Amino acid sequence: MKVITAEVYGFCNGVKGALAKADEAIALAARLSLPCYLYGSIVHNREVARSFEAKGVRTILSPEGVEKGVVIIRTHGISDDLRKAFIDNGFIVADATCPVVLRNAEKARSASGPVLIIGKKGHSEIITLEGARKDAAVIESPDDLGSLDEGSYSAVIQTTLSLSLLQEIREEARRIGLEINELNTICGASESRRRALAAIIDEADAFVTVGDSSSANSKELRDMAASYGKPSYLVLSPEDLPSSIFSFGCVGLTAGASTPSSLFESVKKRLEEGR
Ligand code: SF4
Repeated sequence: MKVITAEVYGFCNGVKGALAKADEAIALAARLSLPCYLYGSIVHNREVARSFEAKGVRTILSPEGVEKGVVIIRTHGISDDLRKAFIDNGFIVADATCPVVLRNAEKARSASGPVLIIGKKGHSEIITLEGARKDAAVIESPDDLGSLDEGSYSAVIQTTLSLSLLQEIREEARRIGLEINELNTICGASESRRRALAAIIDEADAFVTVGDSSSANSKELRDMAASYGKPSYLVLSPEDLPSSIFSFGCVGLTAGASTPSSLFESVKKRLEEGR
């Protein structure tokens, strides 16, 4: 089977930086003979989570009920209150938050007037932004705009939001007369992975995205290929590949920004073997 790889795929700079900082934090904890913890998931990928468990790093969601130690803050950040709670409880905070997310949190914090956070409710990045701007309304879909008062809003957008969803929200805002001043854009890393996939869309009969089902940008890549009418699958590992994929002559391959290259390569190998 022919396999075409997107020119840009896999770990973004934010994830690479977070994993490097996490390794430094693990080494620091070992030097100080302190336990090392991870706040939430460092990235949305179960294999990466398992690799941290194997290094003895325990995942926690609060400073309560555990011995003081070094806590690594996940790539998508933490609320201001929780960060303070860790510091106040004597933890050493190793901040692995992506600089893009930190910048957006600061934009939300310092914006004047009413603020919207556009993104998926409950997503870790949205929780961080809500923590930075507690009076902001979270807008997940065009329908959510209906509950807002008329007027003008500043908006911080989830870095991995789907462009098509953002466009729908913009159009609905225009339709009902709301003015939205966007303070940031969708992250360039997500956009470059989408562009690279678009560049090979005509060449392949079907597409495989390697990534976790909890990863917003991996799902977005899977959905994007499907929107072109191509059979499109999201897999975490070679074992997840459906047998039907081997019936296609040419398969396009990409990976989300939180997917380790080892997983990508193992899926690619299996596809190239054609069984
Ligand atoms: S996708 Fe963008 S915002 Fe998200 S971790 Fe990567 S670089 Fe940071």
